[in-house]
Amino acid sequence: MSGLFENSTVSRVQQANDIVDIIGEHVSLSKKGREMVGLCPFHDDHRPSMYVNPAKQIYKCFACGAGGDVFKFLQLRENLTFPQVIERLAERAGIKIKPLKQAKARQKREFEKVDPNRLAKANTWAAKYFQQNLSDKQKGKSARDYINERKISPESVKKWQIGLAVSNDDLVKTANARKASIDMLIKAGLVTAQNHDKFTNRLMFPITDVTGRAIGFGGRTLDGADAKYINSPTTVLFEKSNCLYGLEQARHQIVSTGQGVVVEGYTDCIMAHQLGCANVVATLGTSLTSGHARLLKRYAKKIVLVFDSDTAGIEAANRALEICLAQRIDIKVACVPEGKDPCDFLLAAGKEKFEHLVENATDVFQFKWNRLNESFNSDDTLTGKRRAIEEFLQTVATAVSAGNLAAIDRGLIVNRLSKIIALDSKQINAELARRTTRGQRTLAYNLQNQKVTSVELPQGYIAAAQKEILEVLLNEPGLYETSKQKITTDLFDVPILIQIAVILLEMLNEKPSISLTEILARVESVEAGNLIVQLAESGEKKGNFQTRLNGALEAIQQYRQHKKKSDIKSIKDENKFLERFIENAGRRNPRNMGMT
Ligand SMILES: [Zn+2]
Repeated sequence: MSGLFENSTVSRVQQANDIVDIIGEHVSLSKKGREMVGLCPFHDDHRPSMYVNPAKQIYKCFACGAGGDVFKFLQLRENLTFPQVIERLAERAGIKIKPLKQAKARQKREFEKVDPNRLAKANTWAAKYFQQNLSDKQKGKSARDYINERKISPESVKKWQIGLAVSNDDLVKTANARKASIDMLIKAGLVTAQNHDKFTNRLMFPITDVTGRAIGFGGRTLDGADAKYINSPTTVLFEKSNCLYGLEQARHQIVSTGQGVVVEGYTDCIMAHQLGCANVVATLGTSLTSGHARLLKRYAKKIVLVFDSDTAGIEAANRALEICLAQRIDIKVACVPEGKDPCDFLLAAGKEKFEHLVENATDVFQFKWNRLNESFNSDDTLTGKRRAIEEFLQTVATAVSAGNLAAIDRGLIVNRLSKIIALDSKQINAELARRTTRGQRTLAYNLQNQKVTSVELPQGYIAAAQKEILEVLLNEPGLYETSKQKITTDLFDVPILIQIAVILLEMLNEKPSISLTEILARVESVEAGNLIVQLAESGEKKGNFQTRLNGALEAIQQYRQHKKKSDIKSIKDENKFLERFIENAGRRNPRNMGMT
């Protein structure tokens, strides 16, 4: 729950925005029976896999498993938070919304109260001022020397609006003299709370969003300060891990080539564009994050990461693997040879060589495998090979656990792995299953007190029974009334299922009958929304609600008794218990225990 708006307001906004209209603005939909179908924007879809159900007001992709209500669609598609989507759709429908009373609204972080447009204006004002500094005969001299040395052309300086922050609180003084708002400059992170300039003696790179608004800055030191680069702090406009430098300039080329090339540094990006490689963007000196990938995925089908060979570590590859799986986007990796950064390489080798490097980038799985092979010398020894395989599968398993992966993707990955490490896909499947089950358990426990980010559920017995209960209640909420005493949130121990159960039971205690969209309107996380749609659907297919509910409740009870007597110590025991229980349950009730 957002905690920011009344539940009734949220429902009203949901009802006022027809899901077919909203999704229709992003995807071309055509009628198929009682539903609408279109190409899913969340995976590389070639035949329409996304169904929009006007009656239920939900959408669902049968290939990648994405699903939810109108809010979840926009959250995922536009990378917005739940409150942001509510605000936008309220505005669209002409509904005036007011946030809840102060006490609750206090959760809203301080910076969110800042008007983003005023903040962008303050940044734009500062950017202009920094540019004046750079072109100033005296003030800008040494900075211009540096720019010349780095072979950044005057056209690029202009195109990227490069500027200069000087010393002696120059910005604060000028702002005072010109009656600009110091308060906004403080909020933009350009001035400290003590009224001093934050950036001094730095080359300033304004960071824009896709609409060209100045949302922040990167500043490179010109006097050898400790931090080579510093960025604007997080504001309502700017969050480092969700911004890409150059996206505004690169996006058209990214769309037309289907490929986004990612470098780390500002100058790398500028130099690429200067030499005509216009589909290049830069992370702000960090590794690629999920946020970056999600943003890029709106424009690109493929991502090529270009590492400086120095930094191209296993670390970065691991993270890229995880992102590739979680975001369902192809990631390739290329390394600049001879320890250069991409900027130097571009200057020395030219456009064609850089393009060649990008074209010959290695699939991230293969990249990881090559690196492991090198480190274990596995060409030489059998043990080396074995260790490389072990480690490789473990990395992939971890990534699989972290990234919410549909069965279909898992199949594709197993095939891919099978080709890379020349191991039978059956064997890989088994190894991966073993490792992900373990991984997911750890993950589930680690997530107890955190925001749940994965819908991949533990495969174990108890989780299946918990899922079963939710499947039934989502389809037949009326059954809650009769088993109220037995159905409590204590039954659940998988974080994302707890999250759903808490909301569902709270609503069922308010009224006996609720619709899927009503539940979805109360759930803030995209992942939980997604799972709710999945559960509702699998439950609907299974039917047989009363029997299934009783079976699942009994199963959990039995399990707990056995656990108390410590008959169950490991997953293996748990699976044995599951088999026995299903057999017995089958004898009692032939059709009721298909716990999948
Ligand atoms: Zn899809």
